Amino acid sequence: MSQHQGRHFLQIPGPSPVPDRVLRAMDMPVIDHRSSAFAELAKAVFHGCQQIFKTAGPVIIFPSSGTGAWEAAIVNTLSPGDKVLMVETGHFATLWRQMAARWGIEVDFMPGDWRHGASPAEIEAKLKQDTAHTIKAVMVVHNETSTGVTSRVGDIRAAMDRAAHPALLLVDTISSLGSVDYRHDEWKVDVTVSCSQKGFMLPPGLGFNAISDKARAAAKTNKMPRSYWDWEEMLKPNAAGFFPYTPATNLLYGLREAIAMLLEEGLENVFARHKRLAAATRAAVTHWGLEVLCQEPAEYSPVLTAVLMPPGHDADAFRKVTLENYNMSLGSGLSKLAGKVFRIGHLGECNELTLLGALTGVEMGLSLAGVPHRAGGVAAAMSLLEERTHSNASAQLRVISS
Ligand SMILES: *Cc1c(COP(=O)(O)O)cnc(C)c1O
Repeated sequence: MSQHQGRHFLQIPGPSPVPDRVLRAMDMPVIDHRSSAFAELAKAVFHGCQQIFKTAGPVIIFPSSGTGAWEAAIVNTLSPGDKVLMVETGHFATLWRQMAARWGIEVDFMPGDWRHGASPAEIEAKLKQDTAHTIKAVMVVHNETSTGVTSRVGDIRAAMDRAAHPALLLVDTISSLGSVDYRHDEWKVDVTVSCSQKGFMLPPGLGFNAISDKARAAAKTNKMPRSYWDWEEMLKPNAAGFFPYTPATNLLYGLREAIAMLLEEGLENVFARHKRLAAATRAAVTHWGLEVLCQEPAEYSPVLTAVLMPPGHDADAFRKVTLENYNMSLGSGLSKLAGKVFRIGHLGECNELTLLGALTGVEMGLSLAGVPHRAGGVAAAMSLLEERTHSNASAQLRVISS
């Protein structure tokens, strides 16, 4: 193995790099989770989470991965034998569907080509057919991390409203929250599922459920057995800043700092930065003559870009070249995309220059691995970023001179 100097480039779409500020915030002695000092911390993070999820309702924090938070959403709202509507947007939607099936849920899984998001029109049509209201929930993945496609949750809510269907709306925002515009209350989402290691810029270990009054009411009458994931068991002690079991104390220090960073930058600026970096990435990819997996421009992911390899070239062999030569990890193709795509993460602790470093590594890797491409993709990304910087700078000048 070659030895590398400098930082590893962690360009996978989660876990994402953890900012130094967050690492320092977590470097603290472990405190008594039944003390008043802990309650202050907990109340601060509950309040901060409400701002990030854009909700006035409770946000539950589990010591878990995102998968645990998926399970919590299912077992608190549904009963064995319930019917739900899901959309095959990619690998993560498929895994969530498998989990629902294991809990005895009957899933109507609308097929997809892994290159488009969930279609609001198709969901509306399905719900309109269901005049007896047997569908208990619509479950969608906001940002499908396996494909780099972001579904339009606001439009899906509007479609559900047009169908006047009472199904719950459960949304996986595991790789979108804190990076892509998201509004739990405004979009009347019933359960928003998320976790710590993507847009929140934290190490893995926290799972989130933001819940509506309607979801909480469903939890009072549903028939699914549960214990660790039970919302009411959490909400009672949470009201006073406590947990029913030992929380991930030091991750909560990190969460408080990460929320402060997101709010200091301003969520609108955070979202705009992600869109800008994603656009620069696509400019490089198209210049190279490679194909972006997502086929719907309105659904391009601000978080990651999945790139198709030219036929006859293995994405994993290419990723090995960038790792061994340039100390950079790129995301692999998952399940049916294995070997066919690689994924460039551009989320969280990422800016113009770190992105250009990553794209440089990709361009040099393509050369080294003998993958046919047109040189100059990084320059194309630079031009796009310069243009956007100029237009921002002149907008600022106009404000100053007016
Ligand atoms: C990462 C991811 C998951 C799984 O989260 P874990 O923390 O690995 O359990 C689920 N859904 C999406 C969209 C993801 O990106």
